Amino acid sequence: MSERFRLFIDGQWVESVSGEWFENRNPADRGDLVGLFAKGDARDVELAVVAAKRAYESWRLVPAPKRAEILQRAGRLLEERKEALARDMTCEMGKILDETRGDVQEAIDTAFYAAGEGRRLFGDTVPVELPDKMGFSIRCPVGVFAVVTPWNFPMAIPSWKIFPALICGNTVVFKPASDTPLSAVNFVRVLEEAGVPPGVVNLVTGGGGTVGTALLEHPHVRGISFTGSTEVGRAIGETAGRLLKRCSLELGGKNPQIVLEDADLDLAVDGAVWGGFGTTGQRCTATSRIIVHERALSAFTERFLERASKLRIGNGLDPATEMGPCVTEGQRDTVEHYVKIGLDEGATLLTGGERAIEGDLAKGWFYRPTIFTNVRPDMRIAREEIFGPVVSILRARSYEEAIAIANDSSYGLSSSIYTRDISRACRAIRDLEAGITYVNGPTIGAEVQLPFGGVKETGNGHREASHTVLDVFTEWKSVYIDFSGRLQRAQIDTHGVSGE
Ligand code: NAD
Repeated sequence: MSERFRLFIDGQWVESVSGEWFENRNPADRGDLVGLFAKGDARDVELAVVAAKRAYESWRLVPAPKRAEILQRAGRLLEERKEALARDMTCEMGKILDETRGDVQEAIDTAFYAAGEGRRLFGDTVPVELPDKMGFSIRCPVGVFAVVTPWNFPMAIPSWKIFPALICGNTVVFKPASDTPLSAVNFVRVLEEAGVPPGVVNLVTGGGGTVGTALLEHPHVRGISFTGSTEVGRAIGETAGRLLKRCSLELGGKNPQIVLEDADLDLAVDGAVWGGFGTTGQRCTATSRIIVHERALSAFTERFLERASKLRIGNGLDPATEMGPCVTEGQRDTVEHYVKIGLDEGATLLTGGERAIEGDLAKGWFYRPTIFTNVRPDMRIAREEIFGPVVSILRARSYEEAIAIANDSSYGLSSSIYTRDISRACRAIRDLEAGITYVNGPTIGAEVQLPFGGVKETGNGHREASHTVLDVFTEWKSVYIDFSGRLQRAQIDTHGVSGE
């Protein structure tokens, strides 16, 4: 019988109230059942939120350096278990081991970075207008946070949210994607062993429409931290607006890589292969549009085609594999659908455009690395997020046109430019409408000490990682201390009044 994984509520691993379970299967081999996971609903959400609210009253009073000690222990446990956690992740969502190790490493880095904030959480101390008085600002926790995450970074993204939430003194109810519940269970087990008190972190697995909706709308939930699609994020933003909840949304992307005529083409091809087909193109920062200067177009396209068509597809546990499967049948169907749209729109299919089904690949949701050329900026494949191994090449006649094409998108997460011209690189840093710009590097590869997030429909203006994430998980309080022993009236014109 398959292993069963429970919910984590108030420090206990419990079955869902309904007693129902859902399956999690390996996308590289659908005969491989990863496990059965408790199917939560609104009743489990209620129990979890009540526990989180109760726990908040004592957790907020634990000194931040003490909270940091727990995060440090969590970071060390993640380090010890990195290989096993990475293997579990590859089994449940398919990306290759090198990448799942990187995903766990991101969580480790975030644990230690957030732990450092336990001795910072800086506010401002400023002069005030009146004598014998001081003023400063402090960060205060918000309360219970709903953390809702996608499947493509099953440990890194929860860590970006949960570690900062905890260091700031909030408590959490965590609803992971239903395609990656095992990594969520593994992450919460680490937190439990690291000593997070009961109720401070709660895990409710189950559907977005049931668990997610009940959680976000719960009156005791004061903050929402969501990463996922723009479509779902928009709906969540509306809910948060109606209920006046603090809400951070990290959403989709359609990330451009610009290749100018003076670029190192081998380097640009390396970046395009990694950015376009790493994680099977299923990264929010994946390179999905490559905008190439016409003078570099044929040389770039030839080399990119050669590299992409040779990528070894397979089970991510095999060290020889370079690209794993799509995460689900539904995701592969989406990819197929967009390839058909691209053909119907008149783009030229250069390679791929079909399922990979030879041998053992028939057991999983594999799709070949796919490249379209002759893509116009107005085509749907150049505008909509596909979230699979499909890359479009667009032609530009100048730097200005390349930037205009890059910016002609409703999204604005990551961007990149390959050039040897420092002036044009600096202009691109200024001109690209994106939360992240890489120079001579692919659109992927964020580090935890720099802000992460995007502009336009990629989000609602917040940034994760770095110290900027603290603005999501804290409220500012301004403090005035008057030690004059008398009533001093601020903003009252005291000119000419003796004794003032
Ligand atoms: P998704 O929006 O389908 O789901 C994300 C999470 O929301 C899941 O846990 C899901 O169960 C839950 N959910 C679904 N409907 C809900 C609802 N009505 N109410 C509450 N919760 C609900 O996204 P996905 O397919 O898991 O992930 C892929 C998407 O995530 C892509 O668009 C990708 O660009 C985006 N993403 C963005 C970032 C970023 O930082 N900007 C990072 C990774 C992924």
